[in-house]
Amino acid sequence: MQDFLFLGPENAINTIFLNDNDMHLSHTTQHKDPDKSLKNNKQYYEDCRLCPRNCGINRVVGRENSEVGFCGETDRLRVAYMGPHFGEEPPLTGDNGSGTVFFTGCSLRCSFCQNHQISHRGVGVYMGLEELFLRVEEMIRNNHVHNINFVTPDHFFPHVFRLVSHLRKKGFDLPMVYNLSGYQSKEILKIADDYSDIYLPDFKYSDPSLAARLSACRDYPQVALKAISEMVRQKGFLDISSTNSVLAKKGVLVRHLILPGNVDNSINALTTLFTEFGSGLPVSLMSQYCPVLDHDGSDLNRFVSEDEFDLVYSHVRDLGFECLFVQFPERDQSSRTESSLFLPDFTQGKPFK
Ligand code: SF4
Repeated sequence: MQDFLFLGPENAINTIFLNDNDMHLSHTTQHKDPDKSLKNNKQYYEDCRLCPRNCGINRVVGRENSEVGFCGETDRLRVAYMGPHFGEEPPLTGDNGSGTVFFTGCSLRCSFCQNHQISHRGVGVYMGLEELFLRVEEMIRNNHVHNINFVTPDHFFPHVFRLVSHLRKKGFDLPMVYNLSGYQSKEILKIADDYSDIYLPDFKYSDPSLAARLSACRDYPQVALKAISEMVRQKGFLDISSTNSVLAKKGVLVRHLILPGNVDNSINALTTLFTEFGSGLPVSLMSQYCPVLDHDGSDLNRFVSEDEFDLVYSHVRDLGFECLFVQFPERDQSSRTESSLFLPDFTQGKPFK
């Protein structure tokens, strides 16, 4: 097996791309105009089942029975940050960055969330659809980002679908990236199919009790595996080649974040991915975990140790994935705390300084 070092732009994650050959399928993105089958936004929000929590509540502001669901948001779009981001894998970041849109709220709300300011604490500003359209168009024109990257957008999927439809009608043909927790229903993914090009799902947990404890979703492993299967069925594997000059246009890349004190969860998660999808599935192994909230004496109050990382890294190499991105931990832990690339401050105008 050959090793390719992706140098990437300054501040890009330290990544090695391992690839036996250029076996990846080449995909051609064909955009349809499926808007006729898309319901009115309010219809999605008034009996909200946009994620597998299936709250079934009415999120529409002003209605008599209006409520806020597990995700913490009404039907009024809130955005925490919009701009080029250089912390994604090189085929997504390129030279100009990935055009991220971070939404306020989250349907998973993990207790260790690195973006807790927006997922738990409601940092963000309200924005109408028209303003969303304009701001994203501005980002594309001013920053020449390589794609539009929706970060945990589940609870605002209807707004996202409208935005994608608008951009395509205006002739913007850059890839639409869905940066997801992995906790999605097949039903919503079938709708997203027409509005997406790339899926970046996490596969966080193989252990249902850990999923229950940290994200209040014991069914995460089975739901996420079904979701990733559906994503792969729609888009195939990420269409990257072995050179760092190629940007991804379509496909699926699965991410896994190592959690301190939970090596077995990681090892089983990676084995499960290999068993379910085979050696061709592109995988990104991440070590950026940083303790941001108090976990009452648990291992989650610390960083991932070098020994823990080495165990998981050695396992993922042994499995034989042909396309593997690896984010190696910083040896100096103080630089991990200081890295705003992975620990952004969304109360600042530029969270990723
Ligand atoms: S998006 Fe929010 S309200 Fe809707 S089902 Fe999920 S958690 Fe519940």
